[in-house]
Amino acid sequence: MALHDILTRMTPKVLDGTAIAAEIKAEVRHSVEALAHRGIVPGLAVVLVGSDPASEVYVRNKVKSSGELGIRSLLLTPAADITEAKLLALLAELNVCEDIDGILVQLPLPKHIETRRILEAVDPGKDVDGFHPVNVGRLQIGQESLVPCTPAGIMQVLHRSGIPIAGRDCVMVGRSDIVGKPASTMLLNEGATVAVCHKGTRDLAAYTQRAEILVVATGVPGLIQPEMVTPGAVLIDVGINRLDRAADVERFFPADEGRRATFAKRGFVLMGDIDPRCYERSSAYTPVPGGVGALTIAMLMHNTVKAARMRRGLA
Ligand code: NDP
Repeated sequence: MALHDILTRMTPKVLDGTAIAAEIKAEVRHSVEALAHRGIVPGLAVVLVGSDPASEVYVRNKVKSSGELGIRSLLLTPAADITEAKLLALLAELNVCEDIDGILVQLPLPKHIETRRILEAVDPGKDVDGFHPVNVGRLQIGQESLVPCTPAGIMQVLHRSGIPIAGRDCVMVGRSDIVGKPASTMLLNEGATVAVCHKGTRDLAAYTQRAEILVVATGVPGLIQPEMVTPGAVLIDVGINRLDRAADVERFFPADEGRRATFAKRGFVLMGDIDPRCYERSSAYTPVPGGVGALTIAMLMHNTVKAARMRRGLA
C-alpha cells in the first residue's frame, strides 16, 4: 500500500488539551509546594480595567486556577475611566512589591489607554504574559525568558504528544503578536522550517498543503478546508469562534448531534479555524473546545512560578 494511502486511512489522534493542561497544573502545584518549603508563596497580580464581560470571565478563571494551585492572587479592578498615568503608577507599585512575582494586565484596555505603553511598563521579570519587548527579544534570540502563554501551550501539546518538530515543514496561519508571531518563533527555534501566512498571503492553500504541522490562529471559523490539508498532517487549531447561526452549525457540523443539542440549549457553539472535516485527513488534531484553549491558563500558572523562581535566582 502506498504511504499516501496508509496516511489517509490512519485514525487521527485527538490531542487532548484538557488532559495536558491537568498534567501541567499538577507539575505547577508540585513546584508551588517545593517553594512553600522555602517559605515562598508565588504571587500573581491581575489587573482588570473596566468591566468587559468576556474579560471578567477570563480573569475569574485565572484567579480560580491560582487558588487551586496555591498561588496567591491579587485582583485589581480599576474603573474603565482610570487615567493612563494612574494605571502606570499602579504598575510601578506592583513592580516593586516583594509579594508579587507575576503581573498580568487583562486585554483589551479602554481606548484612551495606549496598550503598548502599559505592557512596556511591566517589569520584564514579572511579565507572565511575555508581551514586554525585552521578553519578545529574548524569545527571538532563543534566550530563556517568560514567553506568551498560548504559543507556549501549543509547544506543550506537541512535546507531550511526542510530535517531532525539528526539520519538519510547519505553517503558521496568523501573525498576531500574542499567538502567530511567537508560535512561529518557537517552532523555528526548535528547528522547524516555518512559513507564516496572513491576510496578504496570495495563495494560502499552496502553503497549508505543504504543512506537516499546521497551526492556525486567525479567528475565521472553518478557514482551513479539507483540500488545504496534506494527508497525515498534524493540525493545531488555536481559533475560538462562536457560531450563533443555525445555518453555520448545520454547515460545519451536519452529523454532530451533540453540537446541535448544545446549540439548541445555549444558542451558540464554539468552533475553531479548521473545518472539522479536515480531521480525518490528519494524523492528529486539537479539538475545539478542549484543545489549545485549555492550555493558556495552565501556562500562565507555569509562568508565575517560573517568575517567582527566576526573581530569586532559583530557575
Ligand atoms: P488577531 O485578530 O490578532 O490575528 C489574526 C491573524 O490572522 C492576523 O495575522 C490576520 O492577518 C490573520 N488572518 C485573518 N484572516 C485571515 C485569512 N482569511 N487568511 C489568512 N490569514 C488571516 O487574532 P489572535 O491571534 O489574537 O487570535 C486568533 C484566534 O485565536 C481567535 O479565534 C482567538 O479567539 C483565538 N485565541 C485563542 C486563545 C486561547 O486559546 N486561549 C488565545 C488567543 C487567541 P493580518 O495580520 O494580515 O491581518
